[in-house]
Amino acid sequence: MSECIFCKIVGGEIPAVKVYEDDQVLAFMDINPLNNGHTLIIPKKHAETILEIDPDELAAVMKTAQRIAQAIQKALNPDGITVIQLNRRAAGQVIPHLHVHLIPRWEGDELQISRWEPVAGDMEKIKEIGAKIKAEL
Ligand code: 5GP
Ligand code: ZN
Repeated sequence: MSECIFCKIVGGEIPAVKVYEDDQVLAFMDINPLNNGHTLIIPKKHAETILEIDPDELAAVMKTAQRIAQAIQKALNPDGITVIQLNRRAAGQVIPHLHVHLIPRWEGDELQISRWEPVAGDMEKIKEIGAKIKAEL
């Protein structure tokens, strides 16, 4: 049996507050919510990150993320919703089973996510790196 916590939630070995599921996707409440309504959307089939997941599975996850976001909006009426998805430890991923976070936001909630100070980059370097990425497509 898989050691992955989220696979265990999919398999019903660990309880979760589920809000939606279908053949491909499961959505459930985060047990350490950053705000009320913090919800996770995962593929039922194990995939660690955006780099490995089957594109159709990812599309199903994102489609569900939109549905759940709309439901959160109706249920909780937040001022905003942050959508984040972390890949690998350097990005802050703790559970190595792909998941999209939906975090309802309220004006003045002071969560530190997504509030960085913009600092202008070196345009030459930005162009050089853009070209490097484009060359891999
Ligand atoms: P990450 O940093 O990997 O993007 O976030 C993992 C998320 O999973 C965290 O927000 C954490 O609170 C949540 N989490 C970890 N273990 C469990 C669990 O057993 N059940 C639920 N519902 N959420 C979990
Ligand atoms: Zn898993």
